[in-house]
Amino acid sequence: MRISSPIFWGVLGLMACSALELSGQDPRAIQETYFPVPDTTYTTPAFDTKRGFTTHETMEHFLLELVQNSSNLSMDSLGMSAKGKVIWGVRSSAGADKLRVLFLGGLHGNEPAGTEALLAFMQQLSEEGHLNSYLDAVELLVIPMANPDGYDKQNRYAANGLDLNRDQTKLVNQEVVFLKKAYAAFDADVVVDFHEYKPYRSDFVSMGTFGVTSAFDAMFLYTGNLNVAEPIREATETLLVDPARKTLAAHGRRFHNYIRPVVIRGNMRFDVGATSAHSSSTSFALANSLSVLMEIRGVGLQRKGFERRVETGYLLASSFLKSAHHSKVAIQMAREQGRNARQDVVIESSKKVTQSQLDFIDLSDGSLRTFDIEKHDGLALSPQLIRSRPMAYIILPEAAHVIEKLRILDVEVEPLPMGQYEVERYVITENRLKADFFEGFQERIVSATTESEDMDLPADGWWVPADQERFNLAIECLEPEAHCGLIRYRVLEIENTIPILRVIKPTLK
Ligand SMILES: [Zn+2]
Repeated sequence: MRISSPIFWGVLGLMACSALELSGQDPRAIQETYFPVPDTTYTTPAFDTKRGFTTHETMEHFLLELVQNSSNLSMDSLGMSAKGKVIWGVRSSAGADKLRVLFLGGLHGNEPAGTEALLAFMQQLSEEGHLNSYLDAVELLVIPMANPDGYDKQNRYAANGLDLNRDQTKLVNQEVVFLKKAYAAFDADVVVDFHEYKPYRSDFVSMGTFGVTSAFDAMFLYTGNLNVAEPIREATETLLVDPARKTLAAHGRRFHNYIRPVVIRGNMRFDVGATSAHSSSTSFALANSLSVLMEIRGVGLQRKGFERRVETGYLLASSFLKSAHHSKVAIQMAREQGRNARQDVVIESSKKVTQSQLDFIDLSDGSLRTFDIEKHDGLALSPQLIRSRPMAYIILPEAAHVIEKLRILDVEVEPLPMGQYEVERYVITENRLKADFFEGFQERIVSATTESEDMDLPADGWWVPADQERFNLAIECLEPEAHCGLIRYRVLEIENTIPILRVIKPTLK
């Protein structure tokens, strides 16, 4: 159906702004014009029913049958949700030199297209066909429902009301602990975390005549964080995201880098890319994996356009698998270079601000309109405050309890060596609690300078060497100002001193 009558669109627009939330967003005309239903027929559990989605139980049956009939897939329990539901991982066969690719879905329980796309993807993999042939050089671990408690309620959060994608270092949710352990044991070269985003946001009401909605089937969220090694950032874009863009374009999908409105004192700007280690894409990249978070257009749409959303996720999963196969050696090399990169530690950075343009669907007439926007680009950061890269951090005995968190994150921690070293102590210049709450607690905001001294290392304490795969993640945990730092998150409570030292070099006696 083609709809061109301006009266129709006008009436639709009036209805749309009040009824969008109730109707599950997206008037039918917008769906038919911009997001038509694909020809593909899916037979995963959600498509057995007209209402609702796959449940943890129906997924379990589906996966059990799948692996029973498959010669190349197996499944195992990676752990339990708070309510005792198994977090399942499906694996393809291992091989010594295979590239290891981890796909995650359903970390936010109300973003079902990711989970369903991964089920459809595994269904294809279990059958002989073109996808299957990539498994000769790729080992897959697929975790289709990372947050079963949230998923069964189609609720974003875990059973305790916390956001599992904001718990990268504090590790208060058992689901996240199991996921981090599974990631570390698998030692993923590539991680793709499948999510959905909300196309119609309250901030968009003021745009256009009756408001606008997002025009993109998918958005790519990958990191610009300067503490991620540059070879990792570059390879993520060129080896994974670029080919996925081509795949989406070839299938008539609109897409964009992840872009999010931020309203400050009535002025709207748009943030691009991932910078904070809050979110999985930056966190896994700091751990030296190539990492992308996919945002499929879907939150709030309920079943609307579900076939298309699932197909978008399926196309992306297939593209990432194919790219991993195609670029196996280059990805392994990027990780090797990432491991050996020795860039300065960036404490503060600023985003490049430009005037730019962005397309939206105008709800008053259904047209695709281009708006002028102010863009704050997280993929083009410049450092504002840096510290030298230490050869190690020392954790003093009073902070011993943070070692457990670091080990869950696969950060290597050793007993202190003997000897004299030049070390830097932090001198606190600011120390306060943030007024508003984040994930149920108030973050500690600390600023510090450093003072160096030569010291004979004490007998007790811990040594976090720079010469390790996950050191950039250790930096994020241990620098006092870091966004997801153990001090900011108050895993390590401090008053006047910080029981962490930076080791600069050995000193000759
Ligand atoms: Zn999400």
